Amino acid sequence: MIGLISATAAGAAARDRLAAAWPDRTRVYEGRPLADAVRAACAECEQLVCFLATGAVVRLVAPLLGDKASDPGVVCVDEGGRFAVSLVGGHAGGANELARAVGEVLGARPVVTTATDAVHLPGLDTLGLPVEGDVAAVSRALLDGEAVALRAEVSWPLPPLPVADEGAYTLRVTDRLVEPGAREVVLRPPTLVVGVGASKGAPVEEVLGVIEGALREAGLSAASVAGLATVDAKAGEPGIVAAARRLGVPVVTYAAGELARVEVPNPSGAPLAAVGTPSVAEAAALLGGGELLVPKRKSAGRPATATCAVVRRPGRGRLAVVGLGPGARDLLTPRAKAELRRASVLVGLDQYVDRIRDLLRPGTRVLESGLGAEEERARTAVAEARRGQAVALIGSGDAGVYAMASPALAEASDDIDVVGVPGVTAALAAGAVLGAPLGHDHVSISLSDLHTPWDVIERRVRAAAEADLVVTFYNPRSRGRDWQLPKALGILAEHREPVTPVGVVRNASRADESSRLTTLAALDPATVDMMTVVTVGNTATREIAGRMVTPRGYRWQEGAR
Ligand code: SAH
Repeated sequence: MIGLISATAAGAAARDRLAAAWPDRTRVYEGRPLADAVRAACAECEQLVCFLATGAVVRLVAPLLGDKASDPGVVCVDEGGRFAVSLVGGHAGGANELARAVGEVLGARPVVTTATDAVHLPGLDTLGLPVEGDVAAVSRALLDGEAVALRAEVSWPLPPLPVADEGAYTLRVTDRLVEPGAREVVLRPPTLVVGVGASKGAPVEEVLGVIEGALREAGLSAASVAGLATVDAKAGEPGIVAAARRLGVPVVTYAAGELARVEVPNPSGAPLAAVGTPSVAEAAALLGGGELLVPKRKSAGRPATATCAVVRRPGRGRLAVVGLGPGARDLLTPRAKAELRRASVLVGLDQYVDRIRDLLRPGTRVLESGLGAEEERARTAVAEARRGQAVALIGSGDAGVYAMASPALAEASDDIDVVGVPGVTAALAAGAVLGAPLGHDHVSISLSDLHTPWDVIERRVRAAAEADLVVTFYNPRSRGRDWQLPKALGILAEHREPVTPVGVVRNASRADESSRLTTLAALDPATVDMMTVVTVGNTATREIAGRMVTPRGYRWQEGAR
């Protein structure tokens, strides 16, 4: 039973919401002095939720405490209902878990101060994999820093988890048909591909029957089936489509010619005549590579109308290419944050890693390197993913804009999964600082001639000038690279008035952000450096109330002018 105690009207309102959510588990103590209420609740309940300041609760419960093993779990909720603080009995008393549960109901943030090294850990049911067993107990053990043994029977790119070789709790990663034991959770990675063949009109029961029979006899779990695979001609075969729907997995199809090239143990004449490949089930299952666990078998019908074969594919690594945004923490997207925590290996430039180090989960392997090591970073990230790891490769702004995404993907083969997370690129961050300079067609041009010959850059600047595009210059100027910006501005000036607005933004969104609005004629290139972007307006761009505005060209605004 959970005893609920409050002193104020706001506290009573929150208390009543909790009591309404958990009518059978809670008991309200009211109508007597607080000290009496707390004493009674401690005697009668295993847990307390006090809608009081922590100081008050400390004074009230302290005299009643004995030892860790028998003390109640006590959670405090503040007057504003913002925090649910696990105060006493975090582990044995279950207060950490209770704080999280109370937080869920009330929309309060759980505050857990034990085993802080393990916080930011998602529940095991949030990893995106089917999960069986005692999820609550093992998640709690992970959160509370208790030893959880990892038994990975198949390789899969898991996020970093504070696991050990041995422990009272077990996290098992397997596609085998096993019953989770006590204090055990079984994660089901999608490692199995089921190749399926079916005659026209094969009933779904027969298709499903042969698949389930094959899995059962091989001791494999249906929860680990990633998908069904078959030949293009059977893409719409109702029995296959319905079986996939019931298993909750997609159907992948391949051309007969592609399947015919796959070497299989049990080719036969029938499918060759019907669809043009000597094997459908085995070939389709094996096409993506892997180990044949169940060779072709036929369904039970007379005549049999379905075949299947099961393959375990090798665990595919995962490469997330993550843009961190221009600098400010609140311009880092929630998706980027989630990917940083999802990764067990982080690859990036040291100064970018510093920006997000606090977000990483304990156990994340950080591979950082200095400026100039781009090629090495790209190679490392891809190599780690190919080893089956979950890798995040980070970049400032958007990782695809003059950054790591393209060199990394140029290195990557199709044996890894790649996920891109967009970030706010410098041109957009600067645009928001300046006003609305990008309101009409615009381009970005990097003035770095380190990797691009200057005549190519110059041609593009000239084209942008002639096309009247707003231009944002990245990498505008550095020590030893100082003539490019004046040269580029000169080209634009051939097509634009000297009074054309130019915005200069340095360190957009960072603590030392600065910006200036000037003109093509007045810009002093010496005030620009590598931390800066320069945005040059088109012939319609104006300065309005100190802001840089490129008209969108709305008719209703023309009328007003
Ligand atoms: N991937 C990054 C760009 C990398 S190129 C992005 O999408 O933003 C590096 C150049 O980007 C710098 O020389 C500078 O011109 C620009 N830049 C990056 N961050 C910036 C910021 N916060 N403020 C101004 N310019 C920035």
